[in-house]
Amino acid sequence: MPLAPTDSVRAIVPLGARRAAILESNGLERVDDLLWFFPFRYEDRRHPVRIADLGHHLDQPVLLRGEVRSCRANVSPVRRMKIFEAMLEDGSGAVMLVWFNQPYLAEQIKRGDRLAVYGVPRLSYHRRLQIESPDWETWNDEDEGAIVPIYSKIANVAPKALRQAIAAACEALPLIDDPLPPALRKRLGVIDLAPALHEIHRPRELTPEFLRSRSPAHLRIILQEFFTFQLALRVRRAAEEVKRKSRSIRVSDEMREEVRRILPFKLTAAQKRVVKEIVDDIQSDRPMYRLLQGDVGSGKTIVALIAAIIAIRNGHQVALLAPTEILVEQHFQRIRQLLGESVVVAKATGSMAAGERRTLLAGLREGIIKLVVGTHALLEERVVFKSLGLAIVDEQHRFGVEQRQRLFAKADTPDILVMTATPIPRSLALALYGDLELSVIDELPPGRTAVKTYVRASTDLDKVYAFVDDELDRGAQAYVVFPVIEESEKLNVKALTIGYDAMTQRFSKRRIAMLHGRMSAAEKEETMQLFKSGELDMLVSTTVIEVGIDVPNASIMLVVDADRFGLSQLHQLRGRVGRGARKSYCIVVSDKEKERLDLFAKTSSGFDVAERDLELRGPGEFLGTKQSGVPRFRFGNIVRDHALMEKAREVAIEVVERGVAEADGLARELIGVAVAAGERD
Ligand code: ADP
Ligand code: MG
Repeated sequence: MPLAPTDSVRAIVPLGARRAAILESNGLERVDDLLWFFPFRYEDRRHPVRIADLGHHLDQPVLLRGEVRSCRANVSPVRRMKIFEAMLEDGSGAVMLVWFNQPYLAEQIKRGDRLAVYGVPRLSYHRRLQIESPDWETWNDEDEGAIVPIYSKIANVAPKALRQAIAAACEALPLIDDPLPPALRKRLGVIDLAPALHEIHRPRELTPEFLRSRSPAHLRIILQEFFTFQLALRVRRAAEEVKRKSRSIRVSDEMREEVRRILPFKLTAAQKRVVKEIVDDIQSDRPMYRLLQGDVGSGKTIVALIAAIIAIRNGHQVALLAPTEILVEQHFQRIRQLLGESVVVAKATGSMAAGERRTLLAGLREGIIKLVVGTHALLEERVVFKSLGLAIVDEQHRFGVEQRQRLFAKADTPDILVMTATPIPRSLALALYGDLELSVIDELPPGRTAVKTYVRASTDLDKVYAFVDDELDRGAQAYVVFPVIEESEKLNVKALTIGYDAMTQRFSKRRIAMLHGRMSAAEKEETMQLFKSGELDMLVSTTVIEVGIDVPNASIMLVVDADRFGLSQLHQLRGRVGRGARKSYCIVVSDKEKERLDLFAKTSSGFDVAERDLELRGPGEFLGTKQSGVPRFRFGNIVRDHALMEKAREVAIEVVERGVAEADGLARELIGVAVAAGERD
């Protein structure tokens, strides 16, 4: 009986029961699990090197073939290591093979054996040419050598045994079911599954495109995974769309008039367009699910507030979630300024007193509070709304997927608006939120001056300080940021204090204060107010000011040890200045990574910065540790392969439009494959 993909790995004869059990306990239960267990690199063992030529190949892996002339097992006098040595000869010369602490080799390698050996020739301490711990196989003349796939180690299964088991599993390939039907393969432009898997385990040639994971075989796997992902998102979205909102929201002339009356400025064309997109969404009978992207300072808040007013005037409550207490306070102030007493607004933060908290909870539950701005405190279970109509998440990249969901779950089908000032490149937005509608504010309000960015070495600090001093003389205000990252659980306030002391010494006549996340809400609020009203010249801070802070008179951003920050983070910091009429400067000081920082200085668009950052750091780092929703793909790279992701998305949409039930079945089947493969990664 030929081996079938659905057979247990126990059916693979050369594997043996003991090893089969180990594979099973590591999630490799069936033959097709092994087929989806991919090599992470390959070694070309087809071209043996003559032993006489080994001197030209020092320190690089080579393949040798020869006969064992002599073997010896002994114990090193130094660290009592067990050593096994074999002299290999190929007619051109001889070389010593050395293994440590593998005494059993004495049973396996004997004088006269013919071996194919793969390893790195090095000069020993005594300047003797030798190969330490090479990979070896017995060899006979018919065996021409091969391209050998290298797999990650599974417990203590010998690599060679695992390789042989997977080679045996490949015999089941002709029987494997291709989860992508022929029409879909054609539409995606990919080859069949069986030849793709075969090529990945037993490539015929290591072409450059193969080594870059871009061969037709790799593209097949990439597109299958991207398509599966997009299809799952679409199916979920289709299910959501069937849901109808229980509330109906209408925009009346009075509401339009009210918005016009409270607007302190004229909206930009981009803001108007986005307001329309959002207002159309909230009036539709399907729940909104929209991502609002806009560079720092592009004016997202007012757009969200317009949506909030409409929801409130239709009798619903609105929640605005923000990542820091400072930002909550700032939003709160701004809302109070705009709306005055006409709407009951409340704050929810972790530092609320018990009495405040009780009032807040009751107000939300009874529907007296119409608009609440809060930090994570909003996500607590006891926060219950009478009728939450609109949930807004500001700086959404600071929240994990699960946190956002906790907010959304506080109502049946709330309209959802998530905003981000870290402009996520479209490629990544598609990958992460293929199910979100996207609105982009791609225009800054008028009157902004470009921020001049300078990269300086620490030896230039005296000059930098002199420059800052001059600007402060002219009435400017400055932020000085030290690389104390606020996200870490244990905020090291000491590092900031040292920076603060240095600044108060250098700028002894100036009014300087510290700001960090460990201060009480009242202290933070007071400090921000003093800075806003111009009673402080300088704010020495951690990254807590990275998001959202808006003080138009502040025109200098000095970042110390800037190499410790990602480019997008630096761009956020830079976005704290250039918000008023004053000429603004961002000075990044560092003695490292000059190239990366120069690139930052040259780039002013947040989108460009984000693209570069993403390329340099990869999606996980880019989105920060809190982001738990980044999908992982085996060969697919959502930055480099964004064109493929878009194609997968297109096809997924087509499939869903043909019929959700059918698509759902396909998604389940595909995800079954993907999950089985992904769980082991
Ligand atoms: P972000 O998109 O970074 O959250 P904000 O909403 O904080 O930006 O807006 C930045 C600043 O620009 C605020 O001071 C805001 O009042 C101002 N602003 C927003 N829109 C406009 C506009 N259309 N005209 C003038 N100023 C605006
Ligand atoms: Mg903002």
